[in-house]
Amino acid sequence: MRNLIYKTLNLISPVFNIVLKHRLRVLAYHDIVDPINFEKQIKWLKANYNLIDLPTLKEYLFQSKSLPAKSLLITFDDGDRSVFEHALPIFRKYQVPACLFVITDLIDSKKDFWWDTIKKNEAKSGLSNAEIMKIININKGSSNKDRLDFLKKYPVTQNHQLSTVEVKELILSGVYIGNHSHTHPMFDKLEKDELLEELQNVHSFFDMNRIGDYSVFAYPNGNFSEDTEKLLMENNIKIAFLFDHKINERTINPLRISRIAVDSDNSMSEFKSKVSGLHSTITKMKKG
Ligand SMILES: [Zn+2]
Repeated sequence: MRNLIYKTLNLISPVFNIVLKHRLRVLAYHDIVDPINFEKQIKWLKANYNLIDLPTLKEYLFQSKSLPAKSLLITFDDGDRSVFEHALPIFRKYQVPACLFVITDLIDSKKDFWWDTIKKNEAKSGLSNAEIMKIININKGSSNKDRLDFLKKYPVTQNHQLSTVEVKELILSGVYIGNHSHTHPMFDKLEKDELLEELQNVHSFFDMNRIGDYSVFAYPNGNFSEDTEKLLMENNIKIAFLFDHKINERTINPLRISRIAVDSDNSMSEFKSKVSGLHSTITKMKKG
């Protein structure tokens, strides 16, 4: 049924593509769960869009250079190791640029993503996926201190994270490394000193390892607030990406760049409809 809806939507998406030709699209992936399907997506993107890199976007935002029509930037949040394992060979094969937002505290460690610690432990206790997601979402809405206290109740879980050597290999293949915080808290739930510490830690990590661009930031979980934005600005963040499932307006605020959420296992019809901007427009209409 869902596929049928997407297929119908795609019948009108060429019209949409012409209307929205000059609007920048930024895709936000996380991990690569289906490398074969991901390759199909990349092949289709390469044939239908102008895949730009982060420096090109910077020139557009800060040096008034124009962007090509149908510009699209591919981004990944969280620095999941599957990007190195499965996406990197595809980037190389098709000469595709991308931007990876990393969580610096996890690099070179066996630490887990905090939400995966909840998932793995609660799955063991037999909770359903929906129940587990509910717990994770409650924590995303808690104060940072309450979230950290809650996490203490779980035994530690592990994950094979990216190493700095692997990050450097990604950079050599055209992957731009951006700032996705030090520990992935919800930025709108942080006290000012907690927020400053997060930023400072990213800064030191990038400096020490000579990788990454501190000034290019993606809000963890997309949690934006105006107070947060002010602090980011005061602390030299120049570009910030949201997670709002929209394509960008013609005039772009560098600190509020919209992104469309996609997954490597999205069917081609679902993927095409998301990338066209049609999907987000329809969803917006439904929400009113
Ligand atoms: Zn994230």
